[in-house]
Amino acid sequence: MKVTKKIVLEEHDMPTQWYNIVADMVQRPAPMMNPETKQPLRPEEMSTLFAEELVKQEFSTERYIDIPDEVRDLYRIWRPTPLVRASGLEKALDTPAKIYFKNESISPVGSHKLNSAIPQAYYNKKQGIQHMTTETGAGQWGSSLAIACKHFGLDLTVFMVNSSYEQKPYRKSVMHTYGANVIPSPSLQTEVGRQLRERYPNTPGSLGMAISEAVELARKQPNTRYGLGSTMSHVCLHQTIIGQEAIKQMEIAGDYPDVVIACFGGGSNFAGLSFPFMRNNLTKGYKTRFIAAEPEACPKLTKGRFEYDFGDSTGLTPLIPMYTLGHEFEPAAIHAGGLRYHGAGAIVSQLHKDGLIEAVDINQLDSFKAGVLFSQVEGIIPAPESTHAICAAIQEALKAKEEGVERVILFNLSGHGLIDMASYDRYFAGELNG
Ligand SMILES: *Cc1c(COP(=O)(O)O)cnc(C)c1O
Repeated sequence: MKVTKKIVLEEHDMPTQWYNIVADMVQRPAPMMNPETKQPLRPEEMSTLFAEELVKQEFSTERYIDIPDEVRDLYRIWRPTPLVRASGLEKALDTPAKIYFKNESISPVGSHKLNSAIPQAYYNKKQGIQHMTTETGAGQWGSSLAIACKHFGLDLTVFMVNSSYEQKPYRKSVMHTYGANVIPSPSLQTEVGRQLRERYPNTPGSLGMAISEAVELARKQPNTRYGLGSTMSHVCLHQTIIGQEAIKQMEIAGDYPDVVIACFGGGSNFAGLSFPFMRNNLTKGYKTRFIAAEPEACPKLTKGRFEYDFGDSTGLTPLIPMYTLGHEFEPAAIHAGGLRYHGAGAIVSQLHKDGLIEAVDINQLDSFKAGVLFSQVEGIIPAPESTHAICAAIQEALKAKEEGVERVILFNLSGHGLIDMASYDRYFAGELNG
């Protein structure tokens, strides 16, 4: 019998609201703290840094939040994204498991990041903000916010982690094409950048450092706000469009996932795919497993500690209750730049602490091996970040084979790797570390 290869929704089937899992959590995340007063952070304290509507979402306990029409209009450029049966991968693994993936790589920038960039630029514009600042690791977030800002007429300065700036020159070109100003970080343009360069002269940079620079500029420059591409609750919220579409599509496929998997940087694509499914665990007693696939080089969920820590590397952000490797942790310059972050979002951290989320560490060489297999049998070259999810999905499919059970596995293909081919070249040349 032929399997259906992909399930495509119509535009009018696109969800009209984002899902806020906080409404259904038994144990809600602890509040963020003001590091000076050691008091719970108040929304007003955040609104000098983020647009007010985003701050409202950050603190919201409403279950569903309407997606503005202007945002839905732009989502329509590529959404709804297809749900694809990885039949080629199933065959290659000779597994009884059914493997599905949600293909977020088809967005114009090549990843899920645009799902949050568009509403962030929209709410800033609506409030009359003129400039935004941000950081980017591999360049996916910077590219996404660049096109979103261009659309709404905002200008954008992106601090790009220096190792990615060198490894991924075309991401920089993409951001330039969309009209953003891109600066390798740590830079000489901010006070904190100059300090970091003095303290760590040969640093490849990190997301934590780039965040420090972007936050400093947003604070100093008038009519400017900062945008963050991961970890925060409002970012996870925007990404839930992924999982809500996937629920409808799995229903059409006639299956329900036993395991949901996504790679894990700060947790936004993981949250986006898994939270709508997790709602059924929380409210209906479903027993789906949720697996976050993080890199061995940056294992905050499996080896980190749950405590209050800063979101950036120099302590400019509020204190966040999260799994962290310490805000001064310097991850190795692995090619999955989007996973090189020391912490995890507060909601995901709380869910992990409460045993609702499992985590696995994936070795860089294993992740590329999985990425190459996936490319050859499914035709899509995955982003180095996404290969971690693929690797974890393969592990689950092989386990199902050993156990002889027909398990349903769903993973997120968070992005494609067509701008990361230098990483694949280095893998084939044997130049990558495990
Ligand atoms: C940024 C990025 C990630 C990691 O970020 P999360 O917030 O954990 O989703 C994963 N995959 C791709 C393609 C990315 O660009």
